[in-house]
Amino acid sequence: MRTVIGLEIHVQLKTRTKLFCGCSADYFAAPPNTLTCPVCLGMPGALPVLNRRAVELALRVALALGARVQEISRFDRKNYFYPDLPKGYQITQREFPLALGGALRFRVDDEERTVRVREMHLEEDAGKLIHTDDGARVDMNRCGVPLIEIVTEPDIRSPKEAREFLRALRTLLRHLRVSDADMEKGELRCDANISISVDGTMGTKTEIKNLNSFRAVERALAAEEERQRALLSRGGTVEQVTFGWDEHAGRLVLQRAKEEAHDYRYFPEPDLVPLVVTREWLERVEREMPELPWEREERFVREYGLSGKDAGILIEEPARADYYEEVVRACGDPGEAAGWVLSEILSYWKGESPPIGAEALGRLITAVRSGKISRTNAKEALEEAIASGRDPLEIVEERGLSLLSDEEELRRVAEEVVAENPKAVEDFRAGKKQAIGFLVGQAMRKTKGRADAKRLSRIFLEILGAN
Ligand SMILES: [Zn+2]
Repeated sequence: MRTVIGLEIHVQLKTRTKLFCGCSADYFAAPPNTLTCPVCLGMPGALPVLNRRAVELALRVALALGARVQEISRFDRKNYFYPDLPKGYQITQREFPLALGGALRFRVDDEERTVRVREMHLEEDAGKLIHTDDGARVDMNRCGVPLIEIVTEPDIRSPKEAREFLRALRTLLRHLRVSDADMEKGELRCDANISISVDGTMGTKTEIKNLNSFRAVERALAAEEERQRALLSRGGTVEQVTFGWDEHAGRLVLQRAKEEAHDYRYFPEPDLVPLVVTREWLERVEREMPELPWEREERFVREYGLSGKDAGILIEEPARADYYEEVVRACGDPGEAAGWVLSEILSYWKGESPPIGAEALGRLITAVRSGKISRTNAKEALEEAIASGRDPLEIVEERGLSLLSDEEELRRVAEEVVAENPKAVEDFRAGKKQAIGFLVGQAMRKTKGRADAKRLSRIFLEILGAN
């Protein structure tokens, strides 16, 4: 038995205005029904005009996926009745989508995977129904916001792989600057279909709608995979049905059976001319493409000598990759910069902006490299700097965290440690070289981490007459 998964992904494009009118597309925090006009409210006689910018952002995605952009694509009406759809139809592309083919490569547990894309098209979003205790309300602000729909081939082999594919797609969309692709805000949404193939024979597909987090994608698919496998093992048959996913309860919710399938009565949109993407236009979009995530990852390995794994984590978010490069410029040491960003900064980085400026971190790293401060104390200062918003070097200064540079003082501390730890000294003399480590540790404790361990080690060896 083999699991076969395909995804349909909706991505909200980051345009200033909606797909067919001049209303603002920045609806997320706007009061309900304030971003509307006759076009997006579907008033009789109002005519749509295609947003050129939305097409260009969609083309960026198509080019990055290596898809074949169609010179001529066309819009269709998808008819259905729903309170958040004032026109009674959605403008989408069905017969002649914007782009065909393409693929996305990504890693799952260090294994390289490729999922092919079947097609990609442009469409408008619907409004929103808001359910309250005293009934449902409708907000039309989202009506007409531009989306691309990306349909994959059924190349995904496990729920986890589906999650990682989506993650890689989000990284790509963010690097392309076409969408913030925030699943919580609904800027990236996913429907999944899944079947189990037995002895090479394709199974019956079921669909899971509106998955709005990576966790939901993986959990819902795992639940359905298990259900189908158990059913088939018992000799049962899978029915073609559609589920929703109740994230809170962690279970699938049956939405409709096959006989209830919609007939959307698609027909060509008569109010829009076919979309023609000329070679010149496409070439211009290609010239303006931002650096792709895998190109950037490769450059990080080549230019900064990072491991593929570290580079991969840094490029996951473009803001993270930008920050890393700023820290490199500020301290001049790509390896150290990667170490600090990956092991310290990421755990504090919660919102959109980094927890501490790249310049300030760069100066702290420089202070560690030049031996002015120990790594341990630098980390302590960093933690305090992040909590207080102050400069870490100022904290180092104020709390006297910089390293003791006075040889006399270090020697005095070492002699004290030797006097207080006769057992360790005896061990050392009996040939247990690791006893030095214990003595250095004691001296570090006495100096509150303000000594250089290598230097202390040399001093101990001198005192104990070992060199
Ligand atoms: Zn409008």
